[in-house]
Amino acid sequence: MTRLLITAGPTREKIDPIRFISNYSTGTFGYEIAKEAKKRGCLVTLISGPTALEVPSGVKFIGVESALDMRKAVLREFPESDCVIMAAAVSDWRVRSAAKRKVKRGSARTLTLVENPDIIAQLGKKKRHKILVGFALETEDLIKNAEKKLTGKNLDLVIANRCRPKSSVFGDAKPDITIIDRFDGRSAYFGRTKKELAKIILDKVLSFKI
Ligand code: C5P
Repeated sequence: MTRLLITAGPTREKIDPIRFISNYSTGTFGYEIAKEAKKRGCLVTLISGPTALEVPSGVKFIGVESALDMRKAVLREFPESDCVIMAAAVSDWRVRSAAKRKVKRGSARTLTLVENPDIIAQLGKKKRHKILVGFALETEDLIKNAEKKLTGKNLDLVIANRCRPKSSVFGDAKPDITIIDRFDGRSAYFGRTKKELAKIILDKVLSFKI
């Protein structure tokens, strides 16, 4: 039975106990992949940032908040998985020192951000025979950036997702994607739902010898 570890949703990086920085990810893509993988008989672990989605039945669910929480959970589950699909929109930065108390208005604030660890790149360094799948959401140079991720992070598959200024790629949107594999095979899909794309992605993932 193939053991799939899937991450989904945004991460939240605390500013103070009340506020955070995050992104527009809704988790839809990762949850659709998790549901489809479950349907196909895979053993699914879903590590998710905060979303409004229902937890899919029959999966091992681990809810996390920040990128550092997500990294901890992923590294813990990684040895027990055959394949990792990092669909999560991990925040690239966190606030250097989150305030312990609510920051009061009235004074100008400057947030100092530090870079979060790149979880998938870390996995890429020690993956051995595991299959590693990443997403690349870009507003420009999509394919070039996606290819850079594929080789730079030692991935087997990258899903390049074009973010256009006027049409959302989040939630129920039908994103234009190109799937690129490590053998330089590529295929493009337009106007498909994330549910349909989840099937296509899993066909590819499971075609790798796991
Ligand atoms: O480099 P970029 O953030 O665009 O890469 C996106 C891919 O890397 C996604 O698969 C995302 O889940 C993963 N990622 C990660 N850790 C980060 C940032 C992104 O694993 N800190």
